[in-house]
Amino acid sequence: MPFVFDNTYIQLPSCFYARQSPVAVAEPRLVKLNQALAVALGLDHDRLNSPDGLAALAGNAVPDGAEPLAMAYAGHQFGSFVPQLGDGRAILLGEILDPQGERFDIQLKGSGRTPYSRAGDGRAWLGPILREYIVSEGMHALGIPTTRALAVVATGEPVHRETALPGAVLTRVARSHVRIGTFEYFSARRDSGAMRRLADYVIARHYPEAAAEERPYRALLDSVIDRQARLIAQWLGVGFIHGVMNTDNMSIAGETIDYGPCAFMDAYNPATVFSSIDRGGRYAYGNQPRIAQWNLSRLAQSLLPLIDEDQNKAINEAQAAIDAFPGRFEQAWLDRFREKLGMFETHSDDADLIEELLQTMEDSGADFTNTFRALCDTVEGTDSGFRDELGNSDAGNGWLDRWRARLARETVEPFTRATGMRRANPAVIPRNHRVEAVLDAAVTGDLAPLEDLLRILASPCEDLPHSSIYRYPPEPDEVVHQTFCGT
Ligand code: AMP
Ligand code: MG
Repeated sequence: MPFVFDNTYIQLPSCFYARQSPVAVAEPRLVKLNQALAVALGLDHDRLNSPDGLAALAGNAVPDGAEPLAMAYAGHQFGSFVPQLGDGRAILLGEILDPQGERFDIQLKGSGRTPYSRAGDGRAWLGPILREYIVSEGMHALGIPTTRALAVVATGEPVHRETALPGAVLTRVARSHVRIGTFEYFSARRDSGAMRRLADYVIARHYPEAAAEERPYRALLDSVIDRQARLIAQWLGVGFIHGVMNTDNMSIAGETIDYGPCAFMDAYNPATVFSSIDRGGRYAYGNQPRIAQWNLSRLAQSLLPLIDEDQNKAINEAQAAIDAFPGRFEQAWLDRFREKLGMFETHSDDADLIEELLQTMEDSGADFTNTFRALCDTVEGTDSGFRDELGNSDAGNGWLDRWRARLARETVEPFTRATGMRRANPAVIPRNHRVEAVLDAAVTGDLAPLEDLLRILASPCEDLPHSSIYRYPPEPDEVVHQTFCGT
């Protein structure tokens, strides 16, 4: 058997999902199997690589023990509430336990129509599926909580967008696929029984410590808020822009999920947006903390009936939880950027020092990733790279002096500091123009660039030989301004 399933979501009431098998495809062909992930999950790689495995990963056969379903959820999309979304092109095959006993969903994405497909075709095409593979695996290697990609199968069928494109199915692995939008689904239906079941399920699966608290649902809300605050701080630390932070795309387990028009920033500018449909900049890099808080407020609102029978008390509790977000985020952000700047201790003017650097970077159009990476070298006496990144400006040079004065207040060996900083400041990230080039090649059948990029991204903080082409920001004609939702 390719998977040994142990399913729990299917045991929830039938209003949580629709039973639905994946729809078979014409000519499945394995494009990519993630061997490292298969091993980590305790899966039999050879079995996955066999004809049985391919049939399961394509959705052409329902493997033993799978109980396929499409999950129901709602969501706020760009601020507007949609009471019914749901898995319109994804099927949860079931759950597995890894060798440590950790539970993971095995989901096929692009696996055909479901009762939640609305006007959609239930399919996905190879470009966005490989983008999700590359970026989610890249995020994992950067130490950022994320869903992961186990396999990509080409379907041999065209998918019709503006043109005909090659279809593909992604096998996605997640701690769960419960979203803020799942809570909103039952809230909109005023189904407090289902809401309680969902909350209890999420506590048992993701936040078991909340069960022992005097107010378990308030504790659940606090814990989700805390994980999201830390997640967004991690995104900002690597220049990641999710692109579609709708409430249906925010995992209750605190993982990065639903990679659509996501991208990494090259030149630092907090207003950076990539999504072609995000005209107002709602989901811009620097707006992500505020949007996370807004999304979490939707969760808090959904949980009100569980938090306290007395509505006023419930509102006060929920508001207190939400009001704690900015402080939690600020703390996580400071921790993250202190690491990036090699500051081991906490001093009161650290935030100002970090902000000054970011402002200087914005003013000079400095590359986010390369500036921080070059800063690591200054610890060991090589300043030229960092000064160059900031255009050899007085502001950049002045900042370097102030930062050195701040570091002098701590006694840390330069080698120790530089090593720590290199762990916190990747040399390579999945730069958009590189990702696009890899996708273009893959769509024409050349997978060598994909393999090369994945190899480099697996060790993002190391100075690997032959990695330099992945470190250059795009030339003016290579800049990717938009990534499309035409998924
Ligand atoms: P997304 O923008 O991918 O997060 O999707 C938002 C909603 O639209 C979800 O309910 C998806 O299941 C649904 N959806 C997106 N693309 C398709 C498609 N091609 N066919 C059916 N449903 C889709
Ligand atoms: Mg989604």
